[in-house]
Amino acid sequence: MKKMSYKPSVDNVIKAGSNEKEGLYEFIVHLADGSECRVFYNRFPKWQLTNISRLQKNPCPVCRKDFICRCMESFADNIGQQIEEGHWFEKALGE
Ligand SMILES: [Zn+2]
Repeated sequence: MKKMSYKPSVDNVIKAGSNEKEGLYEFIVHLADGSECRVFYNRFPKWQLTNISRLQKNPCPVCRKDFICRCMESFADNIGQQIEEGHWFEKALGE
């Protein structure tokens, strides 16, 4: 129950790496609550989030652990949708 009450809010997206030939991208996503996630995308044939994990700078906003957890995977769809709707790909890539 508690888990589902968490509402991530994408604040900024920064490109961390890419293999443009293969269409593979790594972004760091900053959330409004100070959490950060690393997300991987494959842009071919269309942008698709392939992996998400929380950076362990801050405790997890969901389970409050400060070591590895998989909570953010539950929010991959939500965060991916925000990245898409916020046109963060274009902003992060300067396109
Ligand atoms: Zn967690």
